[in-house]
Amino acid sequence: MADVEGYIKDLKDTIKHRDPNQPEFQEAAFTVLDSLKPVLAKHPEYIKANILGSLVEPERAFQFRVPWQADDGSFKVNRGFRVQFNSAIGPYKGGLRLHPSVNLSIVKFLGFEQIFKNSLTGLPIGGGKGGSDFDPKGKSDAEIMRFCQSFMTELQKHIGPDLDVPAGDIGVGGREIGFLYGQYKRLNGSQNGILTGKGLEYGGSLARTEATGYGLIYYLNALIKGQNDSLKGKTVKISGSGNVAIYALKKATEEGAKVVTVSDSNGYVYDPNGIDLATVQQIKEVERGRIKEYAEKISTAKYSEGSVWDLDIDYDIALPCATQNEIDGDEAKLIVKDGVKYVAEGANMPSTTEAIAAYKANKVIYGPAKAANAGGVAVSALEMSQNSERLSWSFDDVDTRLKGIMENIYEMSDAADKEYGLDKDYQAGANIAGFEKVAKAMLAQGLV
Ligand code: NDP
Repeated sequence: MADVEGYIKDLKDTIKHRDPNQPEFQEAAFTVLDSLKPVLAKHPEYIKANILGSLVEPERAFQFRVPWQADDGSFKVNRGFRVQFNSAIGPYKGGLRLHPSVNLSIVKFLGFEQIFKNSLTGLPIGGGKGGSDFDPKGKSDAEIMRFCQSFMTELQKHIGPDLDVPAGDIGVGGREIGFLYGQYKRLNGSQNGILTGKGLEYGGSLARTEATGYGLIYYLNALIKGQNDSLKGKTVKISGSGNVAIYALKKATEEGAKVVTVSDSNGYVYDPNGIDLATVQQIKEVERGRIKEYAEKISTAKYSEGSVWDLDIDYDIALPCATQNEIDGDEAKLIVKDGVKYVAEGANMPSTTEAIAAYKANKVIYGPAKAANAGGVAVSALEMSQNSERLSWSFDDVDTRLKGIMENIYEMSDAADKEYGLDKDYQAGANIAGFEKVAKAMLAQGLV
């Protein structure tokens, strides 16, 4: 183990030296490096080939200027990114995020996580991620269109159906994918399914909209079943009220759980009777309003400003579905105190390192993002398959495959957990299961 410790320490020092201003990337990389120590001890060939040295360095990362014109005639300039992290097992695949917080550190952390997540799906897709610090909030449809066209004018030089197939993420939904796809087609004259998350009228997949939220609940069900327990009758807190949160709410409710909260970046609603799905969908998907309006429509609900994780109630399951680092160490302590037995992450990296340590120290069963929210990218890969075949599969067909993929992800993580004697550490289990396939592919292809 001494060699392993020294090797990991050197890698961390290199990352700190090369990327001193990338805290999100450092956090993600260090967590994975630590959890791979037992694998390295068993497989010295990975150290010999310095597989991890290659794995933490993107194959390619670029930044570009995105000029666009606002409705008032003024000219704006944003910054665009695409990180093509690892193509060992297939074309780069990962979403585009539009949010003012986007920077290279965030795109690299997301792209790095995507490598393992995509590997866990069992489908042939590599890891990548992109986005811009453009804020879509409050922009008109015309402004969104001009931004997306400008963004794609540069991005299209670097992507392709066998090279890199982007998708949506925060701030990029059906409207944005449509504008991006239209511009790609205009510039390239080809219908090659270059983006996923497309509209059903032009090559999208049924069940893609539902995939991440439904997939989270399929994974959660498998995780809970693995502990000889059941989701039925459990009380659940969900954060966020976007795509992931809404479809997690829908599936969890169908499975007999009671979801009592949803939130946005301003505050949260608590409804002890259970959150009403139709009301949330009307506010968020139809009116594009704020979650505060839920309490104006439903008399049993109460709206409060701040983080939903500070609400002190007894409940069983926490499903963070909003954004990175939304649960810190103190909030995790409250989660433990409130009697929560399971945390499964719909959002990417919603729990800080301190929060995860608190779950583990208190035997809260923890399903990490790269396993729990892989449903979105899994169905994106199924969309690529349908585009290649020039066929559209039925909702049930896609949904059944999604369920199988999510159950398999739990089983692979559980198997790695048992093989390495990790005592129900499904985070390390997922990292190991995702890593082993990528590592073997990298070794097989030479000069990693
Ligand atoms: P959306 O943009 O649809 O929704 C994000 C939600 O989170 C909104 O309700 C937003 O509120 C809320 N939110 C954002 N920041 C905060 C904050 N600081 N505190 C509380 N709430 C906040 O995004 P998605 O639902 O698509 O994505 C959510 C998460 O899931 C992200 O981490 C994303 O990377 C991850 N994910 C998404 C996938 C997908 O298929 N969509 C796939 C895999 C992962 P507000 O409106 O105020 O901003």
